[in-house]
Amino acid sequence: MDNSGDIIAKLMSKSSFKREQKQNIKNQSLQDAPEQTSALPQVELSTCPICDGRGIVLQGDSAIACSCMEQKRIDNSFKYARMSKELQTYSFAQFNLEYYRNSTEPDHYVNAQKALKAAQDFTEKVQTNPYEIGLLLSGPVGSGKTFLAACIANVLLAKQYKVLFLVVPDLLDELRASFSAKSETSEADLLDIARTVPILILDDLGAHNYTEWSRNRIYSILNYRMNEQLPTIITTNLNFDEIEQHLGERTCSRLLQMCRVFRLTAPQDIRRQKYIQREKGKGQL
Ligand SMILES: [Zn+2]
Repeated sequence: MDNSGDIIAKLMSKSSFKREQKQNIKNQSLQDAPEQTSALPQVELSTCPICDGRGIVLQGDSAIACSCMEQKRIDNSFKYARMSKELQTYSFAQFNLEYYRNSTEPDHYVNAQKALKAAQDFTEKVQTNPYEIGLLLSGPVGSGKTFLAACIANVLLAKQYKVLFLVVPDLLDELRASFSAKSETSEADLLDIARTVPILILDDLGAHNYTEWSRNRIYSILNYRMNEQLPTIITTNLNFDEIEQHLGERTCSRLLQMCRVFRLTAPQDIRRQKYIQREKGKGQL
């Protein structure tokens, strides 16, 4: 029997090779585009409680790949299929409803309460029902929708569920790049993972310059997931008329069928409110 070191080496050889390449890509993109610092490892092997970071578990006499290896495969398939360090720290406990309180417009608070509850309910229910209906969180910039999506991902990833978190413009860039001869992963492989991953989060399905090609890719992912009843969480700053305008009627109707819709609005951009609080704390304001 192989010793476990060999088995790990075999299991890991492809992904560590990919990681090295990704590191190079990451270093390049850091110089070109400082905002793309999100390509950081999400689940380090050392954090897996099942295999204790070895990547394999023993079953009788033989060693088999631990389930965390599947999440690694999902993460490694997309260059940017990772949440930033910041997003990884978000939790439901930190979701502060006070940002939504406004005496003249109570809707902000009520809507935020509903969206928070829906996100928490989804996170609970999907653990017993893999076909739980998804969520579409809409709202303007700084209204907390990505925060909620990240909270969902963090709870589920910590419990070893397979989650793919994709920012839509990055997904489209990556699908386009998959045509390049340099790309290790084909477009078909990437689409296949996005279609079939147990839980998909599409962040920022916004007013980007969609071509017919990119509209078709998004439709194909959503249509597959709707047919297979696989849960999808979507964040968008568009309303339904705008979604229809940008992505077409058929995508819009699929979204309604596969998601419960919640709108988040805040009296003021929450990032701005947090900034003011932080600087006040430092005596700067
Ligand atoms: Zn493991």
